[in-house]
Amino acid sequence: PTQDRVFNFAAGPATLPENVLRKAESELYNWRGAGMSVMEMSHRGKEFMSIIQKAESDLRKLLGISDDYAVLFLQGGATTQFASIPLNICKPEDPVDYIVTGSWGDKAFKEATKYCKPKVIWSGKSDKYTGIPEFNDLDQNPEARYLHICANETIHGVEFKDYPTPKNKSGLLVADMSSNFCSKPVDVSKFGIIYAGAQKNVGPSGVTIVIVRKDLIGDAQEMTPVMLDYKIHADNNSLYNTPPCYGIYMCGLVFEDLLAQGGLVEVEKKNIKKAQILYDAIDESNGFYRSPVEKSVRSLMNVPFTLDKAELEAEFVKEAGKEKMIQLKGHRSVGGMRASIYNAMPLAGVDNLVAFMKDFQARHG
Ligand code: PLP
Repeated sequence: PTQDRVFNFAAGPATLPENVLRKAESELYNWRGAGMSVMEMSHRGKEFMSIIQKAESDLRKLLGISDDYAVLFLQGGATTQFASIPLNICKPEDPVDYIVTGSWGDKAFKEATKYCKPKVIWSGKSDKYTGIPEFNDLDQNPEARYLHICANETIHGVEFKDYPTPKNKSGLLVADMSSNFCSKPVDVSKFGIIYAGAQKNVGPSGVTIVIVRKDLIGDAQEMTPVMLDYKIHADNNSLYNTPPCYGIYMCGLVFEDLLAQGGLVEVEKKNIKKAQILYDAIDESNGFYRSPVEKSVRSLMNVPFTLDKAELEAEFVKEAGKEKMIQLKGHRSVGGMRASIYNAMPLAGVDNLVAFMKDFQARHG
């Protein structure tokens, strides 16, 4: 990055592409001749309409989203979706299956208990959330309304590389993709609902993206608040009330940037390369650094690691900070370190981190 920027390894809000920030800066006071910033525009004016429509169509291009799906730009974070999903597609008595591979899947499950009858059919908790189940061994309820997964557990660094086939009668798979959204191609047609908070890979916090199959819309539980009802938002093209306009604009700039990079096939290649460099550094450190996660399901986005000498972890984070590599402290629930290396983390950031890790080991190993 430029001299005055750090390498920000935060899990979210997270680093954004520098060219996107520069573009936003260049049109901050006067968006493309409108004489005002995007923050000041009416959400129903023609300027903002063009922004949200372009953001949606670019996202559709990126993920190959068909017309069978609605794309909603909502608020309330992925956390609100933990409730919205059962409210929109379940009756209170409906059974639902949850695979819990980390803290986020667990939170989604707990929230759903208020609005339907969810069951944890697999939990990685006893293994400290370091793995993903064998799909064939899953005891799915054929009566379940949907099967829920968290595609990438941000805190534990566990990522589904493939998806289980839902064996419930409606064949519905629902995925929280908050922390690996748009990091690789996804076959959207395998899912009933995909949802993601924007603040990791595609924009600032405040925008939540929901991709929902249209036939699932319109049967919400009666008590569903209007703001959580997919039908309200779908019928109004995400403009039922004032949307997070500036955040949607920023997401749009990121989508343009991802398309300009060649789309998600190219983006994934870069992400694989960055993750490989970092995991190799961990694996080749003779146990000085350790990754707790099963190799086959290690996340390309969030890389937790520990130090063999745990007493040096605080020193590691402190020294890295002096070298302009920040937010490397692991989540308070798991300790250790975590490097989040989302789309916008440049290869140079990972190279710098690995060089620092080697140097730190040479001094303290
Ligand atoms: N799900 C995952 C996988 C996350 O990483 C997060 C992170 O913050 C959330 C859900 C919660 O998202 P939000 O803070 O947008 O509600």
